[in-house]
Amino acid sequence: MAGCPVEIDIPKFIREIRDGDFRAAIATIKETNNLPAVCGRVCPQETQCQAPCTLGKKYEPVAIGRLERFAADWELAQGVQIPPVGPPTGFRVAVIGSGPAGLTCAADLRRLGHEVTLFEALHEAGGVLMYGIPEFRLPKRIVQAEIENLRKMGVAIELNVVIGRTLTVDDLFADGYHAVFVGTGAGLPKFLGVPGENLIGIYSANEFLTRVNLMRAYLFPEYDTPVRVGKRVAVVGGGNVAMDSARTARRLGAERVMILYRRTEAEMPARIEEVHHAKEEGVEFHLLVNPVRFVGEEGRVVGVECIRMDLGEPEESGRRRPVPVPGSGYVLPVDTVIIAIGNDPHPLVPRTTPGLEVARHGTIVADEDGSTSRVGVFAGGDIVTGAATVISAMGAGKRAARAIHRHLSQGGHNS
Ligand code: FAD
Ligand code: SF4
Repeated sequence: MAGCPVEIDIPKFIREIRDGDFRAAIATIKETNNLPAVCGRVCPQETQCQAPCTLGKKYEPVAIGRLERFAADWELAQGVQIPPVGPPTGFRVAVIGSGPAGLTCAADLRRLGHEVTLFEALHEAGGVLMYGIPEFRLPKRIVQAEIENLRKMGVAIELNVVIGRTLTVDDLFADGYHAVFVGTGAGLPKFLGVPGENLIGIYSANEFLTRVNLMRAYLFPEYDTPVRVGKRVAVVGGGNVAMDSARTARRLGAERVMILYRRTEAEMPARIEEVHHAKEEGVEFHLLVNPVRFVGEEGRVVGVECIRMDLGEPEESGRRRPVPVPGSGYVLPVDTVIIAIGNDPHPLVPRTTPGLEVARHGTIVADEDGSTSRVGVFAGGDIVTGAATVISAMGAGKRAARAIHRHLSQGGHNS
């Protein structure tokens, strides 16, 4: 339990599964986790709930995530019971962003009887669960079922509304909303900043995965959006997003998919399971290399110039700093490059909301309960922490819903 960010009563739900009482097991899980079918699949269990497991010290830890997934899938198969909604409070709350933080915050506020509208910039709700994490890891029907439940609970979902463009946070207050939750995530891709990065055939992982997952580019021309993969694909980065991009490229028919990572496998931030699956699927790992330039012909990328790296002294994060090896440059021929070196917070809401304090890297400054420098505005998830995990975003959405409820119940209003 100590390893689970939302402190699910793990021994209790496992006992209930053992006793065959699956309904009780899912009820126990849902006391603190609104999206168990998602978390059971995508939580980094090896560093969270399964890390402190005693069995894991000598053998494999208990597969807590898999058990959670089983209970959640069992419930989905039976038909989910829609949680009861409290009597109307007369308060209206706007939730911006429909990723795990926004979905959780919206559900919890609705259960407390508040009127909730969820505003989403894209044409489908779900955030990274829909546009980032691929179908083979998280079937979209599971996310869709959760969103459908929200609708059935009475949450209004407004798609294609970009807060900061279509409407501002101040417009929402002027429209009569009593509080606002910002859960806009970290969807602004980082780039390497090396020559040739604008060549055709170089995608950010966000764009590549959005084209495939959300725009169904693999069905082009039946769907409008194309995607170019080619035979040789280089993916730059060593996190989960890099693994998702590499495995997606393999499924789209690339013959060689090469992960380019500037440290060794030991320092890779991706889940061990993801690295293992990528290897099983034939993804190549080119370690201790760093792209320094992209080579183009007629505007299209045809190669990546890489330099070999060594590991030097540890840096602040504890990981050893990669140091270039002089004179070790070489060119790798490629058709497509996917840059997966991280994401920054979405800047639009912070930029267009006066009085909202923002930290150096663009994250919104918020307390543990989500309160920001602006009264009535709460924030949580990746927009506050920077790119993190589904379960931490969910936890933040939950804490913020409680804080918003307190704020409204105590007669609070925006300034
Ligand atoms: P998001 O999920 O990013 O949702 C934010 C939403 O806000 C989006 O729908 C966006 O369109 C919308 N939005 C943004 N700006 C505006 C605006 N101005 N107006 C209206 N709407 C707006 N985590 C894990 O735990 N396990 C994994 O296996 C894992 N794999 C990942 C794989 C990929 C490819 C990526 C990109 C991330 C992965 N993560 C994983 C991280 C995890 O998905 C995020 O930490 C989590 O989704 C953050 O949730 P959020 O609600 O804060 O934001
Ligand atoms: Fe583990 Fe995630 Fe479930 Fe918590 S929510 S028990 S961390 S799989």
